[in-house]
Amino acid sequence: MNSPVHSNANPQAGLLACSRAPAALVLHDVAPRTHARCMALLGALAPMITPHGPMPVTLLVVPRYHGDSPLAEHRQFRAWLDSRLALGDEVVLHGYHHADNQPVTGPVDWVRRRIYTTEGEFARLDTPTALHLLTQGRDELTACGWAARGFVAPAWLTSCGTQEALAQLGFDWYATRTGLIDLRINHETAATSLVWSVRAAWRRQLSKIYNERLLRQLFNPARQNTPIRLGLHPVDADWPQAVLFWQNALAAVVAERPAVTKSRLVWSSSGASNGEASIPAPLSAVTWR
Ligand SMILES: [Zn+2]
Repeated sequence: MNSPVHSNANPQAGLLACSRAPAALVLHDVAPRTHARCMALLGALAPMITPHGPMPVTLLVVPRYHGDSPLAEHRQFRAWLDSRLALGDEVVLHGYHHADNQPVTGPVDWVRRRIYTTEGEFARLDTPTALHLLTQGRDELTACGWAARGFVAPAWLTSCGTQEALAQLGFDWYATRTGLIDLRINHETAATSLVWSVRAAWRRQLSKIYNERLLRQLFNPARQNTPIRLGLHPVDADWPQAVLFWQNALAAVVAERPAVTKSRLVWSSSGASNGEASIPAPLSAVTWR
């Protein structure tokens, strides 16, 4: 028999009576093979995240990361994720294999899918293929007792066919690199995303400069209405300068902004009901929009 389904939402996150836009901490590429790095990274951020700090974690889970076996077979990983959900974290579906096997169709497509990333699994999918993978992925999360209300495509590359499939399947939202789209009311919220690329020394150096500058801009009073997304990857755990950046950034962010899950950020920013009776969501109290 399947496990009971957890709610993704943090009931405490309903109280957003604040004049500043919220911030969300998002951990990408969560899967059994990245489990150790995920724990290392969250361990380094422990003072700022639940249960010690105010920030819940949005966990972007990949059902079959690069062809791995079903999540239901990974007991330690499941127990860890269950324990995080019990603290108010949420699970979001993040691709299926997280690998791009579709052919490249031209120079622009080549740059987007071979230079920017090689893992844009949902960049070119038509609606039937996206429907198949999304259904399979969601079913495999449900088999573990996890309900995903949102979807983030690998590298945020979401084809039109995927967008159509997400709407048909009743997902609440999906993310792009620069915003969050509430599919129920077709509303996009601009939300700046901080993210590191660590796969080369020059990328790490550039990431440090770029993200420090971006964060300074976001703390400018003129930008207080812009939601902040902190997008971490498990591989960041291997690089002390990346870990140090995230520690400092998160400490500064939780001191300045309300801390929420990504779903909560979408629900509060679009002003639409989240449809969950268990959440005391005084959306009228959200004054940052
Ligand atoms: Zn990813």
